[in-house]
Amino acid sequence: MKVWILDNGSIVIEHTQLMWNVPGPQVRIPSYAVLIEHDDGLFLFDTGFDLEHTNAVLPFELPEQTPEQTIPAQLELAGFAVSDVTTLVNSHLHFDHVGGNKHFAGLKNVVHEQELAQARHHEPFEFFGYSDKTWDYEGANFEPVSGDLELAKGLWLFETPGHTIGHYSLLVTPESSAARPMLFAFDVVYTQPALEKGIQPGFHIDPRAGVRSIARVKEVATEHGADIYFSHDAAAFTTYKHAPDFYEL
Ligand SMILES: [Zn+2]
Repeated sequence: MKVWILDNGSIVIEHTQLMWNVPGPQVRIPSYAVLIEHDDGLFLFDTGFDLEHTNAVLPFELPEQTPEQTIPAQLELAGFAVSDVTTLVNSHLHFDHVGGNKHFAGLKNVVHEQELAQARHHEPFEFFGYSDKTWDYEGANFEPVSGDLELAKGLWLFETPGHTIGHYSLLVTPESSAARPMLFAFDVVYTQPALEKGIQPGFHIDPRAGVRSIARVKEVATEHGADIYFSHDAAAFTTYKHAPDFYEL
């Protein structure tokens, strides 16, 4: 099994978004997708943000994304075409995780059933998060799921609500015992320091569920001896392998 991290550029957020109620300077954070070549197919988790949408609706987040940082270009960097992807999974449906979904018309799209419903009929305060609706195109092939599930051998989705109502994290367990399991927490916490302090993102729909999900990420990491990968941690991101480089599990 091979795992690529696909760099999709960066945006700027308030420190109180990075860590709820913790003041500090604005911070530029990365956005990325995860591509996994598995015996059962080519799985793509999240698709980053769309530059045009972000500039139009969230210009204050000062998005930066080169043509090389779009999903099609990143797939190519990893040696694939858009048409090679067999399953698209979204951790949740916020704009910075669905921006490239539209490139995969008709492809099976696994999403938590509550996330799908909520993104279509969200609370007013969730407007910016769910502002990019291009994932919900005519003919989209959703596979709504719920509960913890093994998507394919060694690819585990486990429920981690709080940031959004149907948020999933991903655990990748290796075929060989020589490699370390990888745990993509996605937006349960944005950074390593946030995990250590137990502080969820400023944006959330259920902060008490968010607290439990932080505990859950820690438990799963400990139980499996997994390395945790953070969704929006600029410092940690520089230490990750980026496509075309990959992790072999
Ligand atoms: Zn995010």
